[in-house]
Amino acid sequence: MEQITVNAYAKVNLGLDVIRKREDGYHEVKMIMQTVSLHDVLTVKRTNDSGITIRTNLDFLPVNRNNLIYQAAKRLMEHCKMREGISVDLKKHIPVAAGMAGGSADAAAVLHGINAMFELGLNLKELQEIGVKIGADVPYCLMQGTALAEGIGEKLTELPAMPDCPVLIAKPPISVSTKFVYENLKLNAKMHHPDIDAQIQAIHRQDLKTIAECMGNVLETVTIPNYPVIDQIKSCMTANGAIRAMMSGSGPTVFGLFFDMETAKDAEKALRLSNLARQICVTGMQRKPYGSV
Ligand code: ATP
Repeated sequence: MEQITVNAYAKVNLGLDVIRKREDGYHEVKMIMQTVSLHDVLTVKRTNDSGITIRTNLDFLPVNRNNLIYQAAKRLMEHCKMREGISVDLKKHIPVAAGMAGGSADAAAVLHGINAMFELGLNLKELQEIGVKIGADVPYCLMQGTALAEGIGEKLTELPAMPDCPVLIAKPPISVSTKFVYENLKLNAKMHHPDIDAQIQAIHRQDLKTIAECMGNVLETVTIPNYPVIDQIKSCMTANGAIRAMMSGSGPTVFGLFFDMETAKDAEKALRLSNLARQICVTGMQRKPYGSV
């Protein structure tokens, strides 16, 4: 195989709870991860020279060792003592620095791509061991689908696939630093925690209404007071028929779940007219795209 094209799918968090801050400064989380159909496209090619070159349609993204694609490819190629090189063409569609794990998804996609193209024969667990060194979300991005993530996000339990439904995604034109959000999170007894266990039960029952009603993200307690536009987008989505709307990850992207496509499309139009968000799209749930590797 001389080249391979791999889709890198974004994620949303259907539920995001922070259990405690560990002594090492990391936060212990309990999250429901869900892959959505919105994706970047990576074309990976063999090159005669050793090394990794990256091109992308977004000029502000790094194409050097700061790109997670570079870091993932380098680790895998060193692990397998590969002599060949690769070039990667990245078409970026997932909003950047948005709480949708776009960089981690790209890292996971390049690992799958190299593994398949060079017939390296690594299984999912082996790829995840390499991936976790790049970021806590990479093991999930390698696995995809619906999953419970615990620990710092790397302890994964597969769940039954979430019932399919339209998902409206909207990113306001602001940047939110993940570091800022976690540093300013105040865990106290009064804090409302989402009922992740009830959400898991609802996923087992394929009960979309209850899954949506269980949605909650403790990181909103930091972002919403600092960036009220997040709450305005949530209100716009629910006023236009979303079953529930919530911020994904550490934000600022907001997503809403809908029972039907027509309502989701009407809400998309209303959101565009509101001028609250810049990147807006309707997508859907993505079932496990990589299969069992
Ligand atoms: P998370 O949901 O894991 O917090 P995120 O959506 O907040 O992720 P990313 O889109 O992954 O954040 O990007 C965060 C930063 O990482 C960007 O500012 C960007 O410069 C850098 N980065 C490195 N590689 C990539 C990549 N392949 N795609 C996007 N950003 C990348």
